[in-house]
Amino acid sequence: MPRPIQATIHTAALRHNLASLRTAAPGARLWAIVKANAYGHGIERAYEGLRGADGFALLDLAEAERVRALGWRGPILLLEGVFEPRDLETCSRLGLWHAVHGDAQIDWLATHKTHAPHRVFLKLNSGMNRLGFSPDRFRAAYARLAALPQVDEISLMTHFSDADGDKGIAAQWAVFQHATDGLPGERSVCNSAATLRHGQDAAVRGDWVRPGIAAYGSSPDFPRHGAAHWGLRPAMTLESKLIAASAVQAGESIGYGSIFTADAPLRVGVVACGYADGYPRHAPTGTPVLVDGVRTRTLGRVSMDMITVDLTPVPAAQAGSVVTLWGEGPHGTRLPIDEVAQPCGTVGYELMCALAQRVPVVVAGE
Ligand SMILES: *Cc1c(COP(=O)(O)O)cnc(C)c1O
Repeated sequence: MPRPIQATIHTAALRHNLASLRTAAPGARLWAIVKANAYGHGIERAYEGLRGADGFALLDLAEAERVRALGWRGPILLLEGVFEPRDLETCSRLGLWHAVHGDAQIDWLATHKTHAPHRVFLKLNSGMNRLGFSPDRFRAAYARLAALPQVDEISLMTHFSDADGDKGIAAQWAVFQHATDGLPGERSVCNSAATLRHGQDAAVRGDWVRPGIAAYGSSPDFPRHGAAHWGLRPAMTLESKLIAASAVQAGESIGYGSIFTADAPLRVGVVACGYADGYPRHAPTGTPVLVDGVRTRTLGRVSMDMITVDLTPVPAAQAGSVVTLWGEGPHGTRLPIDEVAQPCGTVGYELMCALAQRVPVVVAGE
């Protein structure tokens, strides 16, 4: 028997989440963001659930090749654009749209030989100060692109730093409006948090929304709102089994570093899952976990291949009991990935993306 750990990708949840996002931003076209191997879900595994999107957005040219190899003939957008001049040949060959965030990318386009002109997404730095043209240089970049025979359509994009938080989007949105005022072209500004919070505003949702994390069923503004609040379902379950259960006396400690000591007698379960599977090593004692669908907590340090859990709330548990690290548990139970990420000081994104190669993954249909 193989080691009992397994991840499941829920095709129906991906489809459901896209529908929730379309409701949140009615009439907008929707990019499925599949960078980072579809946020750790696997592009090929997620494709069936995401093909109802209007396009696929990603970073890596090899990922774009994979989406084309799946038979996708619609739009594909490179969110960081090209990295060197010859990438433009791949764009021409695969019909990729690409972001343009810097002068070098325009220089490369100007010397690119192509029969079919490209569609580009000109990126404004509206305040995140990562990629994009500053507001005072945006129109000059637009004019340069518009004069190139290699370019046939220019769309306008920016990215929000605080769509999920208290600061919000107002300041960056004002910068975007001012910098793009009167320029022709489709608009795309909303990530997941902006799509869910502002998608009812026709101007903000624009022509294309770019929700990544929400499509995978994690809430972009947890803990303010959980995934259920936004009508999202987990697209990934990480599940394993207890491989041992034993009693520990008061005063005994568990695992490396002896960082947890029982103050009363306890039953402890050992789960076949550790940081080499992608479970965060910095998960503290008390991180939630489901055993046979019952919520309990981790105890002590996460090791490479195992974690230990408190069986007090689930006295019937024994070796072979099902353990849900995140996602869908037995009998309709659920452990949102965000509730696991938070005590670990991280976000659902990082846990999904870190799912390790050694974990077998299955795709569940309806
Ligand atoms: C990753 C990414 C997104 C999606 O962000 P989420 O927070 O996952 O919704 C949108 N736009 C760009 C440019 C990105 O790089």
